[in-house]
Amino acid sequence: MTTAAIIVAAGRGTRAGGGVPKQWRPLAGRRVADWTLERFAIPQIGHVVLVLHPEDRDAWKEFAQTPLILAPGGDDRAGSVQNGLAALDGLGITKVLIHDVARPCVSKDTIRAVLDALDSHPGAAPGLAVTDALWTGAEGMVTGTRDRDGLFAAQTPQGFRYDAIVAAHAAHPGAAADDVEVARAAGLTVAIVPGDPDNLKITRAEDFARAERILRQDMDVRLGNGYDVHRFGPGDHVILCGIKVPHDRGLQGHSDADVGMHAVTDALYGALAEGDIGRHFPPSDPQWKGAASEIFLRHAVDLVRARGFTVSNIDCTLVCEYPKIGPHAIAMQREMARIMRLEATRISVKATTSERLGFTGRGEGIAALATACLVKP
Ligand code: MG
Repeated sequence: MTTAAIIVAAGRGTRAGGGVPKQWRPLAGRRVADWTLERFAIPQIGHVVLVLHPEDRDAWKEFAQTPLILAPGGDDRAGSVQNGLAALDGLGITKVLIHDVARPCVSKDTIRAVLDALDSHPGAAPGLAVTDALWTGAEGMVTGTRDRDGLFAAQTPQGFRYDAIVAAHAAHPGAAADDVEVARAAGLTVAIVPGDPDNLKITRAEDFARAERILRQDMDVRLGNGYDVHRFGPGDHVILCGIKVPHDRGLQGHSDADVGMHAVTDALYGALAEGDIGRHFPPSDPQWKGAASEIFLRHAVDLVRARGFTVSNIDCTLVCEYPKIGPHAIAMQREMARIMRLEATRISVKATTSERLGFTGRGEGIAALATACLVKP
């Protein structure tokens, strides 16, 4: 793979508020930088360089665990880009995209359009034709107008043939507005591909609200529900949400009869429109007799991730008079979190009685309901 992207994230920009550089501020459930990096996770891009400020020690530690290539920021933006380019030296890169981390709403279509244009031009970047009338002004007063014909608002990612932009940066005296200016100073032609009004650069505090609206409208959100019942039989314990709870009876079932975990697993399958446990693990198949339900839950979670979703949260309600769930609820929450590889705060396990009514009220069995919410950015 010979295409790379450099995400410049070494700025200290705190103009947008929040007291930390804007790339580390939360946005629609993740950080700005996480959204931006996700946008460049496309098969055409083989390497991603993240340029980090030397003082962002937590980020260095965190991203060292990922396939990203890390590079230190320079004295100014151009220095940071040059360090990012240097980090790709020797990897056989032919095309490189340079992108501001503060543009988390860039679409994959825009990224692909820039890459495609590099097949026929040494440089390419998204630009938005200016449609508003342009004024000059001073002290709150309009002092003149400017012709907007032929004017474009520049966006990123800006793409270049790798060797050409490395040479252009080496030759440039500095203080360029962006990499297109550096490229043009070296004589490279730069094609304009259609920009996207949603590809905003987060600069001011109010930009966060707009970026959040844009990201949420693209988000694929799925809900699923699950319901399960198991009957009591002989035994001295039940297994609920992965935890062994002593009781004077056990639950009957083909597997370990973990009614709570089954409801959660079915909620996950339901959110994906993938049927239920019975479809994936037929009860007629003897290999699942007595199986730990963890196997089913893991399978559902792996399927969720394979489809590009993440589990936003789970809510599970157990319905029984006995055993009492309260003393075990936190252990159940932790065990489900471990199996699903999620923070425990995303999983709720609670219980209710049915006021001695119906089969749960008569102590004939335990019922469980679960809801799962999945999101795909
Ligand atoms: Mg079941």
